[in-house]
Parts: sequence; structure tokens; C-alpha cells
Amino acid sequence: MSLSSMDAAKTAVVTGASAGIGAATARALATAGFHVILGARRLERLREVASPLGERATVLSLDVTDPGSVAAFVARVPERLQLLVNNAGGAHGLDRIESAKEEDWEWMWQTNVMGTLRLTRALLPALKASGDGHVINLGSIAGFETYAGGAGYTGVKHAVRAFTRTLRLELLGEPVRVTEIAPGLAETEFSLVRFAGDEERAKSVYRGLDPLTPGDIADCVVWAATRPSHVNIDEIVVRPRDQATATMVHRKP
Ligand code: NAP
Repeated sequence: MSLSSMDAAKTAVVTGASAGIGAATARALATAGFHVILGARRLERLREVASPLGERATVLSLDVTDPGSVAAFVARVPERLQLLVNNAGGAHGLDRIESAKEEDWEWMWQTNVMGTLRLTRALLPALKASGDGHVINLGSIAGFETYAGGAGYTGVKHAVRAFTRTLRLELLGEPVRVTEIAPGLAETEFSLVRFAGDEERAKSVYRGLDPLTPGDIADCVVWAATRPSHVNIDEIVVRPRDQATATMVHRKP
């Protein structure tokens, strides 16, 4: 299906759709009947996700930290858009403020905060024009809690939570819903990215517990997106049963 002939189908944009929660969300939305536009930096990985979805998926290169890339991506999105899932994001490092790296903070702010704001601002006209738009932002329990070593990541996810709530105020009276999904521990490439490719350290995050799967979060996105148009799910906080807070988890020996 070409992008210009998608008028009849509901269209969803999913950022960070090359892995983890974004990939599972793209698959689940396609199954729910959306035409899905998948964006991320790794085009090969995007194509692998999109290939089984056939004509229900379109792959576009996107770096949410680069305004030029965002503009080129947005130019390919149809004039009427029903759903934007701002999922691209993650953490770099788990260092205390006194030893954290400037470039890690910079990466987290650019990706989670500036990226989400850029996509939202650029796609709001299309979301409004559809007459039934919806913005779903991937926050985190790190937007509700703090933990030592998490200043960068908890800071950005608190920011996501703040501007999600601000957007809901600003869009009152417009045909656009606004939702935050805030997961706890979900096993994806998140920890591998956070610990710069250290597989052992990444695995240890999930050792001895049953984490959420990317599909569990995709279920939340699809559920929120498929409520009747007058129903706005404000936020969904979802954790594994084995997790009480960001730092209190139950691990089997
Ligand atoms: P993941 O497996 O590492 O996936 C992250 C995705 O973000 C990838 O597709 C990556 O694609 C994309 N991305 C990163 N930088 C990007 C950029 N500059 N432009 C475009 N896309 C970019 O992690 P995940 O767990 O699925 O994370 C998805 C979201 O859920 C994030 O916002 C994360 O903070 C949030 N979250 C995760 C957890 C968890 O425990 N996993 C918990 C709470 C919240 P490319 O590298 O190909 O660009």
C-alpha cells in the first residue's frame, strides 16, 4: 500500500520500532487493523519487523535526535494520522551524579525528551486533522520514582510525564487523546543499551524474576488505543508481579 492510498485505514506511527516494545507494538497494532509506519535508525532491523506485516507496514528512517531526520520522516506521514506512539528512548549509564557522563545525560535528554516533543509537535496537525487522534507516550515507573544512579533516566521520564500531562491540558476540546504508559522491568535491549553492550550486566537485571515482555506493553498500547474515542486512558502503570518499586524486586535464588 502506498502512503498516499492509506486514507481508508487508520494509520499509526511507532517510533523506535526496530526492537523491544516498539517492535512488539508495531506488530500488535497491525494485527488490530492499523497501517503502521515504523521509524528508527536501524533500517535493516525495521525491515525484519515489518516484513511479516506485508502491506500493513511502512518502514522509514528516523533519528528523533536530529531535527532534519524528523522533518524528512514527518513529510512522508499522511495528512491524517490517528495514532502516534512515542516509544523511542532508553537509558545510558547508571552512575551517580558526581561521576555521571555529560554525553549520557545529553543522549537521554535528546532521545526521550527532545525526540518525543519534536515528533509530537510535528505530527499534531495530522492528528487533529484525522478528527480522532491519539498520542501515546512511553514513560516509565522512573517517571514516578527515583533511585540512586538514575538521575539522568528518572529525570527524563519525569519530564515525559510532565509534558504528557501538559499536552492533555493544551488539547482540551480537540479530537486528540493523550496517554502515558509507564512500565517497570521489561526484558528488551534496554539494559544492553544502558550498559553499553555488557551482556552479563544486562542479563543480571532480569535474573531470578519474571519480567514483563515487550508484548505485555504492546497489549497496553493496543487496549488504550482501541477504547471508544470519547474514552481517554490517562495513564497505565504496569510492573511485573515480582517488582514493587524500581529497586525492590523479588528474585528466586
Ligand atoms: P530497546 O529494546 O532498547 O528499544 C529502543 C528503541 O528505541 C529501538 O528501536 C531504537 O532503535 C530506538 N531508538 C533509540 N534511539 C533512537 C533515535 N535517536 N531515533 C529513533 N529511534 C531510536 O528498549 P525498549 O525497552 O523497547 O524501550 C522502549 C521505550 O520503553 C523507551 O522509551 C524506554 O525508556 C521505555 N521503557 C522501557 C522499560 C524496560 O524495562 N524495557 C521500562 C520502562 C520504560 P534504533 O537503535 O534502531 O534507532
